[in-house]
Amino acid sequence: MKLQKVIILGGGTAGWLAANHLAKRLNAELSLDIHIELIESESIPAVGVGEGTVPFMKETLKHFGIDEELIFKNAEGSFKHGIKFSDWLYNPESNNGHYYYHPFQPYPSGHEQLIRAWLSNPNRCKFEHFMSTQATVAELGLSPKAITQREYDGVFDYAYHFDAALFTKLLKDNAVNELGVHVSYKTIDDVEISQDGSIKGLIANGERFDADFFVDCSGFESLLLGRAMNVGFKSLSNTLLADTALAVQSPYQDNSTPINPYTTATAKEHGWIWDIQLQSRKGVGYVYSSNHTSDDDAQRCLALYLDVEPQELNVRKIDMRCGYREQFWVKNVVALGLAQGFVEPLEATGLLVFDLTASMLAHALSSGELSFALESQKFNRDVERMWLNISDFIKLHYCLSKRTDSSFWLDNCSTDTIPDSLQQKLEMWKVRAPHKFDFTDKLGVFDISNYLYVLYGMEFLPTQVVTSEASMQIYKGYQEYQTSVLKEVNSNLRPHKELLEKLKLYGIQRN
Ligand SMILES: Cc1cc2nc3c(=O)[nH]c(=O)nc-3n(C[C@H](O)[C@H](O)[C@H](O)COP(=O)(O)OP(=O)(O)OC[C@H]3O[C@@H](n4cnc5c(N)ncnc54)[C@H](O)[C@@H]3O)c2cc1C
Repeated sequence: MKLQKVIILGGGTAGWLAANHLAKRLNAELSLDIHIELIESESIPAVGVGEGTVPFMKETLKHFGIDEELIFKNAEGSFKHGIKFSDWLYNPESNNGHYYYHPFQPYPSGHEQLIRAWLSNPNRCKFEHFMSTQATVAELGLSPKAITQREYDGVFDYAYHFDAALFTKLLKDNAVNELGVHVSYKTIDDVEISQDGSIKGLIANGERFDADFFVDCSGFESLLLGRAMNVGFKSLSNTLLADTALAVQSPYQDNSTPINPYTTATAKEHGWIWDIQLQSRKGVGYVYSSNHTSDDDAQRCLALYLDVEPQELNVRKIDMRCGYREQFWVKNVVALGLAQGFVEPLEATGLLVFDLTASMLAHALSSGELSFALESQKFNRDVERMWLNISDFIKLHYCLSKRTDSSFWLDNCSTDTIPDSLQQKLEMWKVRAPHKFDFTDKLGVFDISNYLYVLYGMEFLPTQVVTSEASMQIYKGYQEYQTSVLKEVNSNLRPHKELLEKLKLYGIQRN
């Protein structure tokens, strides 16, 4: 039997990412001529946050055929070199100003030797500044791309910040106008289940919408997989303690305020604050643990960060449920987006996972047949591994902290809250440096380069380090090389804000 019709429930970012992936793969590339319809409610708003991305998004947008300049012209886009983590290691009052960057540029060739050289030098500079000039360029407020470069090319690898609602609209326009996805505006109030346990149709106000296959992108509620099919939820709240976010949109002081080309994640007593700078406003939010602080105190903390009075803040409170479904694909239903799972947004993993798993689904359905047993088993295995790997990586940022200023930090560093899988890795890496053989899972999402930026940024260094004259020479030689690269790069790259203004005005040369 052929797959003829797919319904995607939910028009948030996940729903429209899924619509693009499915329509691009199944219809534009494979000409399977499947009817793809997205149903969204006009009365239930999308979550509307999710403004930071990772470089994978560039590949996705290119694949969808979206012109890069639209991110800057229509979605308030700005560039992201990576993330700057401030105050994660020490109590702020004891060592004010500790920070490290997690930049996106891949390591250079021969990096293993360079890392050894860095470790062996007792007078080393910050790891990220040694490995790449990207962190320095970010700190200088320069863009990762030269004005003359074609779309999706850069001097450094980069990602975007954007307005979540405008970005979703961009995805929607592409899916509907370029890829033939149909859209209906209905609020689904019931689900009809067939005798074999699969979903037959979705009901809105007595009207039934049938399909062969359903993609649940209904947000945290997970109306199809969670509610209708009773698939349980595996909570990660024992490991990831933050469960609430207060989000605000904040204006710039004036037109001359520079725009940071990176996300700032500043650790606070009971969580951390994200600061994402778009073209005409900032998106700022406090992610915290409601078991460790009150909403009022959280609002005061956010107000202090923004240098305003708490009552001046027009905050949106979002309850976050960290964890994932026990299964992601059951019978003829797959959950993507917040309906599938969520970990707090420290490394912008939301859109990354939803994008990746939507792409995986498009490939899994590409036979065009209505038989999913093997594909669903594989999908369930792969996606669970992905969530567990991500959870370990997020926890890494917390559990290496030496902060003692609140029970939030003490609890985060207690072994009771650190998964065994992460504890085992840290035990090994206490003595020897991490190696690429520790990262053999291709679906791990985060690999050795990501881990090293965090481990060494948080001053977690192996004891087993051999210092030699040769490694000191390598260190010196590479630093000199980096200084010359930086000079050249500086002359090609413009201040971030200036480039954004030019891109808006003149656009970007297409590939
Ligand atoms: C505080 C916070 C910060 C985040 N920051 C980032 C970040 O920086 N980077 C990142 O990558 N990700 C981030 N995320 C994750 C990001 O927000 C989500 O990945 C993204 O918004 C996808 O959401 P969604 O589409 O799954 O769900 P939603 O946005 O909730 O959309 C659900 C959709 O389902 C529809 N719907 C619901 N019920 C019905 C019904 N009965 N009938 C019809 N339609 C219905 C709604 O109308 C809506 O269209 C963050 C998340 C949170 C909570």
